[in-house]
Amino acid sequence: MGPSVKTQTAQTPLSSGRWPATQLWPIRYKPLPDELLSCWLVRLARGHGLKVQTFCNAIFGEHLQVWNRDIDRLAPPWLLTELSIRTGTPYLVVAGTTLRTYESVLYRKFRPAGPLHWILLLKMYHRKRLGFGLQYCPTCLAEGDVPYFRKRWRVALSTVCSIHKTMLLDRCPSCEAAVAAHRIDFNRLDPLDEVPISFCHRCDFDLRTAPAAEPISYDGYSFGVLLAAGNCIDGNAAEGWTFDRYAVLHQLCRLMTARYKHVGLRGFVLEQIGARDISLTQGYVSFEMRPLAERHHLLLLTAWLMTDLEPRLHAAWQQGCVRYSVLTKDFPGSPEWYRRIVANFENWRNRFL
Ligand SMILES: [Zn+2]
Ligand SMILES: [Zn+2]
Repeated sequence: MGPSVKTQTAQTPLSSGRWPATQLWPIRYKPLPDELLSCWLVRLARGHGLKVQTFCNAIFGEHLQVWNRDIDRLAPPWLLTELSIRTGTPYLVVAGTTLRTYESVLYRKFRPAGPLHWILLLKMYHRKRLGFGLQYCPTCLAEGDVPYFRKRWRVALSTVCSIHKTMLLDRCPSCEAAVAAHRIDFNRLDPLDEVPISFCHRCDFDLRTAPAAEPISYDGYSFGVLLAAGNCIDGNAAEGWTFDRYAVLHQLCRLMTARYKHVGLRGFVLEQIGARDISLTQGYVSFEMRPLAERHHLLLLTAWLMTDLEPRLHAAWQQGCVRYSVLTKDFPGSPEWYRRIVANFENWRNRFL
């Protein structure tokens, strides 16, 4: 819960629908640990007894639509400044609720449009979300005073809750809708007819009660590597995961489904670890667009390679399952240690030595 309501000279927006320029809001909840900007905005709106859309119109004006874009990725600096002033929250804390904080950790350089490595896509269509870009852990949602959505749940390599070690979910188990907390009160007449933020916006299923599934693992060591990679996405490199390693993990995950001629990296790993393949979405699908089960499967296979990269990649190359040209394709700025490993595969004739 945020701080208690303090008496202000005006506790509602002006007749113009806007608040006076520098006034603190009556409700000044601070972001909870790792809370997403969009979730924080919804909590602030509800704290004021307003519908999310009404609240955002009062802050930003009706001409500035917030919910038809991925606001966690695209929040402009003036919006963050406004939130900082109105809630009395340091700007850096406010900026820390956006996905831009993963710059140079998970992806090299922020850009407003186009794919960003490891950032799940919402696939916005007006205010609807067609992609399953926000995951959740039901147990995390159920803990604490209020349910809220974490920033790390927007990251494609987070497939297991790092706290509860159960699988995350990427949709409502009852109606399969994507998670979109900002849509909860769209169809409700009374903004005070409040349902928790953890309710599915389409069918009112409480996501806190979704069954938490045990994670799938093909090999304990690789699973541990995957957990460590997930633990480090907040820039905590204590377990050895920095931008370079995430970049190589991403490149190899991509090659697991690449459809180049003579590339069978996935088949090679499956055979090595004795696991069975699962059905994967066909066509050109980026890793960030794949459903959770597919990402988890591909990450486990790639983590197996990463645990002992040089000899395992060498074995794959010797069996003709991967080539130098695809290992280096679309990978500018690859780390030196990776280039050194794949340089061994430059001359295909060496396979027969
Ligand atoms: Zn959890
Ligand atoms: Zn539902």
